[in-house]
Amino acid sequence: MGVPVAGGFYKEELLNDARNFRNRCSAWLQEGEHSIVIDAGPEFRLQSISAGIKHIDALLVTHEHMDHVSGIDDLRMYNYIQKKPIPVYTTKGAIASISSRFDYLFGAKKYPGSTDLELHELQNTLYIGPFNITPIPAKHGSLDIYGFRINDLCYLTDVKELPDSSLKIMKGSKVVILSALRWQPEHPTHLSIPDAVELINDLSIPEGYLIHMNGQVRHEESNARLPKHIKLAFDHQTIYL
Ligand SMILES: [Zn+2]
Ligand SMILES: [Zn+2]
Repeated sequence: MGVPVAGGFYKEELLNDARNFRNRCSAWLQEGEHSIVIDAGPEFRLQSISAGIKHIDALLVTHEHMDHVSGIDDLRMYNYIQKKPIPVYTTKGAIASISSRFDYLFGAKKYPGSTDLELHELQNTLYIGPFNITPIPAKHGSLDIYGFRINDLCYLTDVKELPDSSLKIMKGSKVVILSALRWQPEHPTHLSIPDAVELINDLSIPEGYLIHMNGQVRHEESNARLPKHIKLAFDHQTIYL
């Protein structure tokens, strides 16, 4: 939903720390000339401006919920600059959903001048420049979604459950970025913060960043409760690998 929520409800309680203000989750990976974005939500345009993203080789989409895809229309400027479609790699279900909900971007209904995307189902490891990208199948309630392992980094959002085969893919990574909705109570489709901590520790991943927290989760007091190697992420945070 972003924090604070629409209408600014409970904003006053968050004002003491800018890190409590959270846009919808997205990540930008960059090395040399190569640039990949994970998810493009409703604030993608603003995030791309403040992060200074000038070029995008590919968009990885975790799942089709609007807080993760509603910004794809704003990729149009990158088509204009790069003079070619942007490849999008995601699940089979997200492809079907994006194609029907954004029908004016595809096929016979494609509107002149609209964003040019190529949708690809990601099944195996994909190689883009220095990035080796492996999908990590996960469950978000009943929805099949993807996290991604990119070299030694794992990025997973909106996760509730992971099969053993996915835990295996994550093993040995050095950094994990993982969603955690709130301290408690448990949520039917999202990991809680204690769940996420347990998962990171079970996998012995040495560095963890939590994302997708709701407005009840305060940055400083939460970090004080977390183990040293796991912290809440904040908007525009840079991680060097
Ligand atoms: Zn979701
Ligand atoms: Zn979400």
